[in-house]
Amino acid sequence: MSFVKDYMSRDFKIIRGDFSPQNAMALLTESSFGVIENADQQAICVVTISEIKAAIAQRKTDLMHDLPDKYILQVGQDVEMQAVVDSPLLTTLVETNALVTNGANDIVGVLTKAEIQQFVNGGKSHEKGVTLEANLNGNLGGAELAGDFRPLMAYYICRECRYRNTLDAEQVEVINGTTNLPSCQNPDPAVQPHVLKRSR
Ligand SMILES: [Zn+2]
Repeated sequence: MSFVKDYMSRDFKIIRGDFSPQNAMALLTESSFGVIENADQQAICVVTISEIKAAIAQRKTDLMHDLPDKYILQVGQDVEMQAVVDSPLLTTLVETNALVTNGANDIVGVLTKAEIQQFVNGGKSHEKGVTLEANLNGNLGGAELAGDFRPLMAYYICRECRYRNTLDAEQVEVINGTTNLPSCQNPDPAVQPHVLKRSR
């Protein structure tokens, strides 16, 4: 069997959201990916050096607010690659990259489209024993699973209240498009109900 950790790239750096694009570029010169975190150490965006270069060329100054407004995909390192390929979020993954977490929910890698393609092309797809199938069929729940085994999930940090919303495949399409955004999932009774807010 093949697992996410066998295919993921470990070539990434964590970048604090309050870094300038210039500082981020200096950090990224020897790595393929940067994972931008907010003050709560939640990942808000995965970037490549070319995206940082573009931000600098356009005189952008704020990584948290000026970079492409993306949801975050995340998957556990011990999830089988077949389960990733079978996920309803796979079509989303081919447009962005997924973060890989361990049992402590630390980010340990990045899973890219190229690596998934390599798995599929290598003929290793359709192996027996997809243990997470029950979790992936019909629901994306799985939040109760330890980080190592967490199936492919999509998140979006609300820019109004910074709550990390969990999205299903359909809601990811909404974030990508320009139609009405869903309500923010923040359960805090002290927070006024509001629509999910994008970055500027
Ligand atoms: Zn919110």
